[in-house]
Amino acid sequence: HTSPALDTQSLWQKDKDHFIHPFTDFSTFHEEGCDLITDSEGIYVQDSRGNRFIDGIAGLWCVNVGHGRAEIGQAMADQATRMAYFSTFNNLSNAPASELAAKLAELAPAHLNHVFYSCGGSTANDATIRLVHYYFNRLGKPDKKRILSRNNAYHGTTYLAASLTGIESNNWDFDTLDHLVTHLSEANCYRRPEGMSEVEYCDHLVKEFEDAIAEIGADNIAAFIAEPIMGAGGVLVAPEGYLKRMQAVCRANDILLIADEVVTAFGRLGHFFASEAVFDTQPDIINCAKGLSSGYAPLGATLISDELYEVLGTPQRKGGVLSTGFTYSGHPVSCAAALKNIEILERESICENVREVGPYLEERLKTLSHHATVGDVRGSHFMMCLENVADKATKDLLPVEARVGDRVAAEAQRRGLIIRPVGHLNIVSPPLIWTRDTVDQVIAILDEALAATT
Ligand code: PLP
Repeated sequence: HTSPALDTQSLWQKDKDHFIHPFTDFSTFHEEGCDLITDSEGIYVQDSRGNRFIDGIAGLWCVNVGHGRAEIGQAMADQATRMAYFSTFNNLSNAPASELAAKLAELAPAHLNHVFYSCGGSTANDATIRLVHYYFNRLGKPDKKRILSRNNAYHGTTYLAASLTGIESNNWDFDTLDHLVTHLSEANCYRRPEGMSEVEYCDHLVKEFEDAIAEIGADNIAAFIAEPIMGAGGVLVAPEGYLKRMQAVCRANDILLIADEVVTAFGRLGHFFASEAVFDTQPDIINCAKGLSSGYAPLGATLISDELYEVLGTPQRKGGVLSTGFTYSGHPVSCAAALKNIEILERESICENVREVGPYLEERLKTLSHHATVGDVRGSHFMMCLENVADKATKDLLPVEARVGDRVAAEAQRRGLIIRPVGHLNIVSPPLIWTRDTVDQVIAILDEALAATT
């Protein structure tokens, strides 16, 4: 694919003058400009200067089946020309939305059979909390409102999703809905208290949760929300058995467990959903987005248990309806993209590829630990992270001004690989079609990039 020549100078100017970029430092953006990504194919993306890069971040943890899938484009075009949009409010529906809901119920853990559509991950989480509050209101438990989350969790940036998010810097100078959310400490095995074994650390995290319940009162807590592996907060893998134990505490206290699988679903950990297949848990709700459509169209979904649905779906007050949803809930073009995406994931056994190549990626990334700044290499399968430090023994960080994550990413990009800098971290979350050969190429690039940085 090569797009027609673009007037990049003029585009940069327009961008700089008018496009408010998300998660962007305006000072560096205005000084250095931006890279225009113009073309993509398979594991590669290309910029407007004709430079080709291996995509090490799947767009933004989402292009799971890889770029340039003509059959997804065709499915979207067919749907858009046949019937691009019509409401799903009241008693209206469309074929891709119905098909996809049934497919998601088939793929999800057995008790999750009901789908509420949204526009992405943030709106899925936002809608979920509204539905959870509604659920407890209808059960006659209006005090069950508080949501427990953890520091460094990332759940998005609608007002409510940003409030669930526990990454402190994400909310600098923003307000949050603190009366609704309580954050516990993050599950960070690398930075766990000195001298504590992983087993003791797991006990400690569970106890912290139990203590918070005792303090706030189970009657005031609606749910605990968790990413099975925390993503944007630094790819934090909790200790063995942690999520299952958290689920047991939730069940014992009539607290719902919400799994935010926006990143972990659709193959990133080698399964369509990780909660049950990887972590042996059965959340009351699973949220997904990103890999659901591999980023070809915006889409989010909240998968709800039969038990909750029974309450949400009982007749409304006279003259009332379940008054929540978006114009684009069940958007036909997005749902058509998701259906084709899932067909590809299944046909090409992409989860199997992740189960095969993922451990190799982990093993090879760990070989980079000899570099002076690489304090930790962690993650699972196609969800990995390097943590850069000033001193491996003390785990002290380099000063923020050192911009170490940015520098490693820039050195990698110069050598043909895009990875994501997040503060002092570098995230590797590739399309799920990387092979062992791709991994070898990537490791060679990262080895050089880290050597050039240190
Ligand atoms: N939840 C998790 C775990 C995420 O990683 C993200 C985005 O990165 C979101 C929610 C928010 O999704 P979106 O950006 O589609 O609103």
